[in-house]
Amino acid sequence: MLAAALEISVQCPKCDAPVPLSGPLLRVHCDKCQADVELKPLGRTSPDIVKMYERAESQGQPTE
Ligand SMILES: [Zn+2]
Repeated sequence: MLAAALEISVQCPKCDAPVPLSGPLLRVHCDKCQADVELKPLGRTSPDIVKMYERAESQGQPTE
């Protein structure tokens, strides 16, 4: 088990399906209802969130 393996997902506001985030995206596409979901951090972008995205991006695929 890799502690670094991040699983990030958001809930689609239209159909409530979990939409996985595949990278440092601020917009994801729901395959269930074809909605484009924009991620809006509460008021501002948290530095921790940005760091998390950057780390996930630099690691690419943590599992081989
Ligand atoms: Zn959806």
